[in-house]
Amino acid sequence: MYQPAYQFWHPMLHPNEMKVREPVRIVRGEGCHVFDDAGNKLVDGIAGLWNVNVGHGRPEVKRAIAAQLDELEYFQIFDGLTHPRAEELSNLLVDMLAPEDMKRVFYSSGGSDAVETALRLARQYWKVAGQPERTKFISLKHGYHGTHFGGASVNGNHVFRRSYEPLLPGCFHVETPWTYRNPFTEDPDELARICAEMLEREILFQGPDTVAAFIAEPVQGAGGVIVPPASYWPLVRDVCDRHGVLFIADEVVTGFGRTGAMFGSRLWGVKPDIVCLAKGITSGYFPLGATMFNDRIVDAFDGNADFAGAIFHGYTYSGHPVGCAAALANLKIVRDENLPANAARMGDYLLAGLQPFVDRYAAVGEVRGKGMMLAIDLVADKRTREPLDPTAGHAARVAEIARQHGAIVRPVGTKIILSPPLVLEQEHADVIVAALDAGFAGA
Ligand code: PMP
Repeated sequence: MYQPAYQFWHPMLHPNEMKVREPVRIVRGEGCHVFDDAGNKLVDGIAGLWNVNVGHGRPEVKRAIAAQLDELEYFQIFDGLTHPRAEELSNLLVDMLAPEDMKRVFYSSGGSDAVETALRLARQYWKVAGQPERTKFISLKHGYHGTHFGGASVNGNHVFRRSYEPLLPGCFHVETPWTYRNPFTEDPDELARICAEMLEREILFQGPDTVAAFIAEPVQGAGGVIVPPASYWPLVRDVCDRHGVLFIADEVVTGFGRTGAMFGSRLWGVKPDIVCLAKGITSGYFPLGATMFNDRIVDAFDGNADFAGAIFHGYTYSGHPVGCAAALANLKIVRDENLPANAARMGDYLLAGLQPFVDRYAAVGEVRGKGMMLAIDLVADKRTREPLDPTAGHAARVAEIARQHGAIVRPVGTKIILSPPLVLEQEHADVIVAALDAGFAGA
């Protein structure tokens, strides 16, 4: 039995797994590569955890962090206190999300916090706006919104829910427009219409005057990279508008270029009321989350003179100066190097490289993606699209062999997920494709 040399629990893993397999110990990173403790050089096909968008070891970000540590390592922003980096970053974010009409930022420490902030302030918005009975949330099946109780409650995958129930009451889930697996239709626009109508029916069933918000990812990430038909989000925005429901875009993964557009919402031409951001905001160089709000919400809070308008929400690390400094340096790179454009280009290149796997391997049902979010869907039967048995470990074996061939990819259930750094170049993409080819051939 393998005895780990450390005493922490791995997130998202049964502890017993580490009794039968050795950990992969990553010790260094450089650009699109990481190195393990045996000295192997691996293409980072998952950008850490969807987040190291500018690549590893960028001196600009490291210098900004070091300079901030010298100047002011920490101070809080509660109660009217502030510091320059929190101010500068809020102005930059409002500028970057001007097309989405975002006007104000609430800082936190990561994606789950950003979602929790969105849900809590959405509820408070309705109290401040004089409709306190609007408390319910609706979200999509297969969606992922982090692990806090609020986020887990709107989460659309049972594995993240079951062990932690009972969750928040008043959360309801509707069908995702998933073209590859749905019981309705093969036609994307028809599917978009049906799913938007199902959302509307749920709002009507609950009573529109009880629904606070609809929350969803512009492209679902952890649920298996589910790319909606282009007509879906505009239809959803219309449904929300018809019934006064707030629309929260969880852009923790899709924010800052990953889909090939600077923000996922922009990809589909919709304006949310609230946007959740984390991950790519600092490319993982420091933990930071941000939730952004439009005028509808800002005006309701600003225009309410009552005690109910006070924001009793916040984190010790809201607006951490080092996190804000890291974000400022990181986002300068994202803009200066036009990383969304590279994500679009290299995403297409990767997709084209992986597409032949559908014909080449019996287990590959579909290869799909948008920009630098890609998934390979493993099936027991290509015709029925029945997923492979997740307990059989096929995806994990493919990933293990791919690593031996120089690329880190992520097995998630019966899917293999790719989310490389947005600075990826063709030579790195070629290694990923060849490593996965070897993985499928050998698994
Ligand atoms: N929302 C989405 C869409 C995510 O993908 C994630 C994390 N993968 C989260 C929220 C939670 O973020 P964190 O893990 O930083 O708490």
